[in-house]
Amino acid sequence: MMVKLFDGLYAFIWEDYTQNNCNTYLIDSGKRILIDPGHKHLFAHINKGLSSLKLSLDMVDLILATHGHPDHLEAVSYFKSPTKFTINLKEYEYILKLAGSLYSIPEPDFYLKQGDLSIGNDHFEVIDTPGHTPGSICLYWKDKKVLFTGDVVFQQGIGRTDLPGGNSKQLKESIKKIMSYDVEYLLTGHGGIVSGKEAVRENFRVIEDYWFSYL
Ligand SMILES: [Zn+2]
Repeated sequence: MMVKLFDGLYAFIWEDYTQNNCNTYLIDSGKRILIDPGHKHLFAHINKGLSSLKLSLDMVDLILATHGHPDHLEAVSYFKSPTKFTINLKEYEYILKLAGSLYSIPEPDFYLKQGDLSIGNDHFEVIDTPGHTPGSICLYWKDKKVLFTGDVVFQQGIGRTDLPGGNSKQLKESIKKIMSYDVEYLLTGHGGIVSGKEAVRENFRVIEDYWFSYL
């Protein structure tokens, strides 16, 4: 299901729980950034959504991956030049080693580094948030107070740490890091999204009170 959150931001929420796939987000604000394109064989819903916006794949400027798991990244292979691709360097090396023989991961055009990132007229902050994977990042869109979390936190939940490269202590530290941000939209890698400052705060409270004891 595609939802317009506000002018320039669309969410493609994955709702079929018989098949695993991630939520995908499109920033269409000057430059077009597609965050986590998802599984290759489940890409039709993104294609459909983009078509309804009268966008073709080559009109996407950048594919940005929160991390390298195939349910987030595999469909990157549908995109060719001039669309660029970016991911954290540590994550790229990790996923190449782990899954490079299983699916084709293009060479990034640049790497995501902790700190400020400007794309077109939009200003973001890349936050290193390892734990679910070694090079997971969250992306904070400063002007809009939007936090894209990948698989670090969910609505009432947290990312798995039992997969290769997972680390629960790191995940806890990463969650503590993102809790302090001023967030109107918490845009998660799976499940529902959380909107409204108070709802986001409450979501972090639940995570702290319940899930932290498991980390
Ligand atoms: Zn993942």
